[in-house]
Amino acid sequence: MNKPKKLTVSCEHCSLLQKEFPILGPEDLTEAIRQAQTYVANGILVEVPFVVQNRSPFPLIVEIKAEGPWDDLMGFTFRCAFCDRRYYLGAETYHGSGGSWGPAK
Ligand SMILES: [Zn+2]
Repeated sequence: MNKPKKLTVSCEHCSLLQKEFPILGPEDLTEAIRQAQTYVANGILVEVPFVVQNRSPFPLIVEIKAEGPWDDLMGFTFRCAFCDRRYYLGAETYHGSGGSWGPAK
């Protein structure tokens, strides 16, 4: 039996994160950051530091306040501590174009 190439089944620990959470406004961003911080605090997600050359390092998710103020551009990458699946929380707050929180593409 051939299995589909696209994985749709996740591990029990991160299954609730499979649905992408769109960040359309400040309230969504606060909610997404709270969720991510909770997953990290619970040891389910581990943050993978996001490094961009010639730019000062982004703060870690545990270093920021969920309610803001936020940097203009934010990006946090995580991996599930159990299945290694990648997740990404990204938002552009300055232009208000929003972002998303969910499985990394
Ligand atoms: Zn997982």
